[in-house]
Amino acid sequence: MSETTSGARHMMAVIGAATAGSEIARILAQHGATVIVFEQNPRPYGKIEDGLPRWHTKQRRDEYAEIDKRLDNPNIHYVPNTRLGKDISFEELRRGWGLSGIVLTHGAWRDRPFPVEGADEFIDRGLVYQNPLIYWFNHYREKSYNGPRYELYPGAIVVGGGLASIDVVKVLQIETTLTALAAQGISEDMIRLEREGIEPVLAQHNLKWANLKIQPCKLFYRRRVLDMPLSDIPADVPPKRADALRLARGKILQKAQRKYLFEFQELRVPTGLVVEHERMVGVQFGRTEVVDGQVHLVGDERETVRGKMTISSIGSIPEPIPGIPQKGEVYTYVDSRLGLLMDGSTSVFAAGNVLTGKGNIKDSLESGTEIGVRVAEAYLGLSGEEVDLVKGARHAAELSGEKIANAIDRRGLVAPEMVEKILTRVRARQLEVGYDGDFRGWIRRVTPPDLE
Ligand SMILES: Cc1cc2nc3c(=O)[nH]c(=O)nc-3n(C[C@H](O)[C@H](O)[C@H](O)COP(=O)(O)OP(=O)(O)OC[C@H]3O[C@@H](n4cnc5c(N)ncnc54)[C@H](O)[C@@H]3O)c2cc1C
Repeated sequence: MSETTSGARHMMAVIGAATAGSEIARILAQHGATVIVFEQNPRPYGKIEDGLPRWHTKQRRDEYAEIDKRLDNPNIHYVPNTRLGKDISFEELRRGWGLSGIVLTHGAWRDRPFPVEGADEFIDRGLVYQNPLIYWFNHYREKSYNGPRYELYPGAIVVGGGLASIDVVKVLQIETTLTALAAQGISEDMIRLEREGIEPVLAQHNLKWANLKIQPCKLFYRRRVLDMPLSDIPADVPPKRADALRLARGKILQKAQRKYLFEFQELRVPTGLVVEHERMVGVQFGRTEVVDGQVHLVGDERETVRGKMTISSIGSIPEPIPGIPQKGEVYTYVDSRLGLLMDGSTSVFAAGNVLTGKGNIKDSLESGTEIGVRVAEAYLGLSGEEVDLVKGARHAAELSGEKIANAIDRRGLVAPEMVEKILTRVRARQLEVGYDGDFRGWIRRVTPPDLE
């Protein structure tokens, strides 16, 4: 990629400024392109700020600094508070701006719908989705927080099975413990409960979990413990090794239960809702079996489980954006290896969580079969080990960035008059949202003093 002396150059837009977006912007800029990064929020930290529970203090702080470093670049134009699909339409950006390419790195923020028809009528009346819940958990202590507020009830039902659902049960168990302790006049620290576990902290107050009389929350999973996607199992490991790694998943779960005292039930799938006085007060579950990797409902018997609150944590998918071809939950690709969604005079690529649908441990941390278990235990706070959780996502983005830069390199440059036109549009939008081009100054202004 290059720039001619006349000022012709490649002009790229990146949508979403977080781990993947900032890394790809950095690489494209390094290759000589001018990059415009559109971000819906004032701050560019994405899942790191809003999805990774705030007890990952160091990881979050480190990655904020990394993202800042990547975006603070004279060839990168940051455009905050600008949402694709709302403030700018995808079609307008693709057909009307004259860009060389667009890279979608807007993540996976839509919760997969709870699998019972009509359930969404009860959102915030008994049903809560994981993404807004963790967003609230990460921000509710800030003075300026004005989003939805959640009251957490003991005995909540959690439907899930992956790492994010364990985050949810940890939030529930830790917060309900803090509330019960506060009722006894004891002020405790969330971080200590997460690091040391519930019983050891209670013991320091001469208390036991049973004294608090808190009904634990319960996690329901549709497959078997050994199928839980807590740790990745590489496709090429020998069958015996794969079996051992599946068993290790059970051990990860047991460790998490011992530390955070939640209950667990495998082989159950929601089949109905329990509704009273226009609130969802429970879930009907059917039993399942797993045959050849497929989940089947067994028999007609249904079990009613009551809970004032049900949290759905069954995965996050990319938000649909009008104009981007999609089949079911995922976008459709012209070339999925390259992440190429659409060809044409402005090509469209996707990378990061929007492409993979998840944060990818396995893509990054060299191969080796134990690594998945180690990372999962470190992520869940079970081993005391510090691992760079975002390394995987960053590395995957780096690979995507290089591939995209090489593909763009083969295209003609944008003429200088067009470059000027695009930059005028960018400046107009920046002005509209109050961004003066000083990235560091902006971050200082839009960061709440009490952001954790
Ligand atoms: C439970 C959990 C487990 C994780 N596990 C791992 C792991 O194992 N390994 C790992 O490497 N990482 C993990 N992570 C970290 C993380 O999710 C990702 O790896 C990484 O942060 C994803 O980066 P991203 O840039 O693709 O997406 P995001 O961080 O989601 O960033 C997307 C950005 O796009 C913005 N955006 C969204 N829509 C629009 C729009 N329409 N217009 C403009 N901007 C928009 C968002 O505001 C956001 O800033 C985990 C995170 C969680 C919550």
